[in-house]
Amino acid sequence: MTGDPIVLNNKTSKKNIRDCAKDELESFLHSVGEPPYRASQIDQWLWQKNISSFEQMTNLSLQLRSVLKENFDLNSLDIHSSQHSNDRTIKYSIRLPDNCLIEAVLIPVDNRVTACISSQVGCSLDCTFCATAKMKRTRNLSKWELYQQVFILQHMSFQHYQMPLTNVVFMGMGEPLMNFKNVVNCLQMISSPHGLMMSPWRVTVSTSGIPKLIRKLADQQLGIRLAVSLHSANQEIREKIMPFSKRFPLDELLESLIYWYNKTKQKITFEYLVLRDINDTHQDIDQLLEYCKRVPSKVNFIEYNPVEGDDFQQADPSVLELYKKTLKRGRIHSTFRSSRGSDIDAACGQLANKLASKSSNSI
Ligand code: SAH
Repeated sequence: MTGDPIVLNNKTSKKNIRDCAKDELESFLHSVGEPPYRASQIDQWLWQKNISSFEQMTNLSLQLRSVLKENFDLNSLDIHSSQHSNDRTIKYSIRLPDNCLIEAVLIPVDNRVTACISSQVGCSLDCTFCATAKMKRTRNLSKWELYQQVFILQHMSFQHYQMPLTNVVFMGMGEPLMNFKNVVNCLQMISSPHGLMMSPWRVTVSTSGIPKLIRKLADQQLGIRLAVSLHSANQEIREKIMPFSKRFPLDELLESLIYWYNKTKQKITFEYLVLRDINDTHQDIDQLLEYCKRVPSKVNFIEYNPVEGDDFQQADPSVLELYKKTLKRGRIHSTFRSSRGSDIDAACGQLANKLASKSSNSI
């Protein structure tokens, strides 16, 4: 082929090549006289090597590279800025192609490095104690935007801690199940031999608890782990601190979790904040135990991270001790996760793009 590049796409905005399904790419390649196996070569550049320009696809002819460039965009995420915590946690503010900003966090603990990634710009839900909930949901992240956060953090993990990521958690900004299709496609890519080849059981999706979508996720049989932000096993209290939960009562949530367990044989992790004057009574503790007994589960108590404008407070340490003792007596395993990166607002519930307004730091 010689002369002017072939332009099949005469729309002013070109499609991002990472948004193309493989068969779509194959039929495009067919239309320009290329064999289907080129789609696999291109896929490798896009998902395993994470290249940022068509010129880097060096096993394709110059001609094909230029045809691709004429017909597709190849967008990448940029690190807008980063902040380093005293505990070695690093928070990244990441710019999406439409200039929206999201945050992703790299958390080293002992011999593990966890990447905490965002699933939405803002959040669809309204948990009263969470900073992200105060931003309105602007949009869902696409599959490649989700995936590229993991890729970028993998690269940064090598750079800062000289080791690959050991875990990925969907616990950043947003409600992952409200971005279902893209999150599932990204999860598949993370564990795929065509992607990062990470074991799915090292990946956790954290949800505020949407029963219908928990069932749907169980049906996908991805081998991942599920965490549910419970925070209260009392419907009235839960509704007060997580108003959206009016639509998803605890009984219905429990049924979906039993379904999850029956399908996946994976225990559920309940995430739980112990807040002063909210859920710090004997009744709260007993209700949690009763709830946990009804489905194979464990509890991860998380430290409350102060959010500007909120007047919640972590309950007295003796209450947490009582929670742990009571659960232990009922044979429910529990752990306590102390905050990481709270000095840079990188801890749970503190992601709200504050970094965006600060000047860029070097990475
Ligand atoms: N929407 C999902 C994932 C994002 S939040 C979910 O709700 O699970 C990740 C975790 O941080 C959730 O357990 C959430 O309840 C918790 N969280 C939110 N605000 C917090 C805060 N101020 N302090 C501590 N944890 C918080």
